Amino acid sequence: MPDTVIPLFSDTETRPTPGMRAAIAAAEVGDEQKGEDPTVIRLQERVAELLGKDAALWLPTGTMCNLVAVKTHTRPGDALVADWMAHVIRAESGGAALASGVIVEPVRTERGIFTAAELEAAMARVVAVPEPYGQPVGLVCVEQTHNFGGGAVWPLEALDAVAACARARSVPLHMDGARLLNACTALGVSAATVAARVDSVWVDFTKGLGAPIGAVLAGTVEFIARARRYKQLFGGAMRQAGVAAAGCLYALDHHVDRLAEDHENASRLARGLAEVDGIEVRTAAPDTNMVFFDASGLGLSNREFLDRLAAAGVRMSGAGGAIRAVTHLDVSRADIDRALTAVRRISAGGA
Ligand SMILES: *Cc1c(COP(=O)(O)O)cnc(C)c1O
Repeated sequence: MPDTVIPLFSDTETRPTPGMRAAIAAAEVGDEQKGEDPTVIRLQERVAELLGKDAALWLPTGTMCNLVAVKTHTRPGDALVADWMAHVIRAESGGAALASGVIVEPVRTERGIFTAAELEAAMARVVAVPEPYGQPVGLVCVEQTHNFGGGAVWPLEALDAVAACARARSVPLHMDGARLLNACTALGVSAATVAARVDSVWVDFTKGLGAPIGAVLAGTVEFIARARRYKQLFGGAMRQAGVAAAGCLYALDHHVDRLAEDHENASRLARGLAEVDGIEVRTAAPDTNMVFFDASGLGLSNREFLDRLAAAGVRMSGAGGAIRAVTHLDVSRADIDRALTAVRRISAGGA
C-alpha cells in the first residue's frame, strides 16, 4: 500500500482542520436540550439567516433532519413523493416508513431532477383512487444536489415549476439540502434564493463543509417548534453540543467559498477520465463535486477496479452500478492528477 491515500470515496471523509479543532476547543457550551447552548443558538440563527427562513433547528445528522422533517410535515398513511433514487427513500434504513408511516410514490428520473409534469403525474397516481381508498399526498421532497444523480443541481426554474405544482395542491415541499451550498456555488446564487422556493430545507455540515458532526433544518417558526418535539422524541436533543456546532460555524466562515475548488477538481477528474480507454464518464461536465463513471470497458468488475485503485492509494466507491468519485477539502488538484495516473495505469494493464 502507498503511504498516502487519496480519499475520493466521499466528501464525508474530511477531517477537521487545525483551525476548526481550535474553534471546537474554544467553544462556549451549555445544555442544548434545554435550549441553553450559546454556540448552538448562534449556529441556528446563522443558518436561519443564511437560508432566509424564520427558524432553524440543530440536529446531529442529515438523516435525522429528513426523519424529523417528514414526521413534522406528514400524517401516517400519507404519500411522500420523491425521486426514485432520493436519499430519503433509498439510504435512510426505511426511516420515513418506520417513523412517519408514509407510503412512497417515486418519480423515475435520470439524474434526480423532475419536471412539474412528472410531479403532476406522480400525484395523480397517488389519488387515482379517491379517498378513503386512496390517500392524500403529504409531502414532496427534492434533493439539492442530487447525490445518486451525480451531484446534479436543480436549476431555479425547475424548482419554481415543482414548487408551483405542489403549492397548487397545498402540499408542502421539503428540500434535502445536504449539499445545498455546492448547488449554490454552481448556480452562483445565494442559499436563501434557493431555499425561498421550499417550505423546509436543511444543510449538512459533514459533507463538503468539512465539520465532524451536525446538520441544521430550517423553516417557519411553527414548523420548527413542532420539529423540536420530534428531535427530542428521536433522541436528537443533546447536551453540550456547542463543541460540535463550533465546527459548523467555523465551516461557514472558512469552507464555503472554497467549494468552487472542489467543483474545478471534479471537472478536471472528469475530463481526464474521459480520455482513458475503457472508461465512460456519465457526466462529462459534472455539476458539482461528484464524478460518476463506468469502468466496465476495462474488462474488470467494479470491485476489481476499486481494489486495484485502492492498491494504488486511491479510494473511490461503487454507487448505482457505477464508480463514484467525490472531491472535497482533503483532495488537492495534485491528488486528482495522481488519481488519474493510477486509473491510466490500470487501463494500460498495469497494477
Ligand atoms: C449524506 C446525505 C444525507 C444524510 O446525511 P448524514 O449527515 O450522513 O446523516 C441525506 N441526504 C443526502 C442527499 C446525503 O448526501
